[in-house]
Amino acid sequence: MAIQINNVYKRFGSLTVVNGVSVDIADGEFFVMLGPSGCGKTTTLRMVAGLETASEGQIFIDGRDMTHAEPRHRDIAMAFQDYGLYPNMTVFQNIEFPLKIRKLAPAERRRKVEETAGRLGISDYLGRKPAQMSGGQRQRVSLARALVRNPKVFLMDEPLSNLDAKLRAVMRTEIKKLVTDLGITTIYVTHDQIEAMSMADRIAVMRKGDMVQVAPPLQVYDRPATCFVADFIGSPP
Ligand code: ADP
Repeated sequence: MAIQINNVYKRFGSLTVVNGVSVDIADGEFFVMLGPSGCGKTTTLRMVAGLETASEGQIFIDGRDMTHAEPRHRDIAMAFQDYGLYPNMTVFQNIEFPLKIRKLAPAERRRKVEETAGRLGISDYLGRKPAQMSGGQRQRVSLARALVRNPKVFLMDEPLSNLDAKLRAVMRTEIKKLVTDLGITTIYVTHDQIEAMSMADRIAVMRKGDMVQVAPPLQVYDRPATCFVADFIGSPP
C-alpha cells in the first residue's frame, strides 16, 4: 500500500521535532529514513504507525486519511531493536500471539506460524524460549511475529543495532529479500549509512526535523543536495 505524508509537523511543547515533512512512498517500496540521532526519524515513523498524533498535516495509507486512526486500523506491523518478545512464551507462542488476538482458528494459526518461521529459518527453534536463543535468532522471531499476519506496511526502527557487524550484514540481505518477496511497503529507520545505501529503494536524509534529500542511494551519494548530506553519507562534496 502506498503511504503519503503530507506537510506533517510534530511539536512537543515549544520543540518542533518534525518540521513540515512531505513525501510519497510507493506501494512495495523500501524507503529508508537516515539521519543522526534526534533528527525526528522515530517520531515520523511513530506518526505513520499511529503511536503519535501529528500536530499538523495528514498521513494517507492506501489513499485513506489515517492521520487520526488508531494503530489497529492501519494494517501495519512494527519491529524494533529491542525485539519486544514475551520471555515466558515459547518462540511458537510469540509468533502466534498476533493471530490469537485476532481470533484465528488454531489450525490456521499453526499453518501461518510454521510458514513464517520457515521463511525466517527458525523452524527448529519453535519450542524454545527467547532467552535460549542468540541475538540474531531473537531478531528473526521478532520479524516473524511482525510478518505472520501479512501486513501491507512494515515499519522498522533500527532493527539491527543490537547485533554485531557480521550478523548485521547477513540480516540486511535477509530483511531486504524477505520484504521484497512479500511485496510489503517498508519504512526503515537507521542512522547507519551502509544499511541505508545497501537496502533502500530511496533514502530520505533527515536533519533537525526536515527531509533534506529524498532520492535513490546512488543519487544521494553522487549528488548530495547539501554539505550536510555529503558529510553524513561520506560522499565527495
Ligand atoms: P531520532 O529517531 O532521529 O533519533 P526522535 O524522533 O526519536 O529522533 O526524536 C526527535 C526529537 O524529539 C529528540 O530531540 C527527542 O528528544 C524529542 N522527543 C521525542 N519524543 C519526545 C516526547 N515524547 N516528548 C518530548 N520530546 C520528544
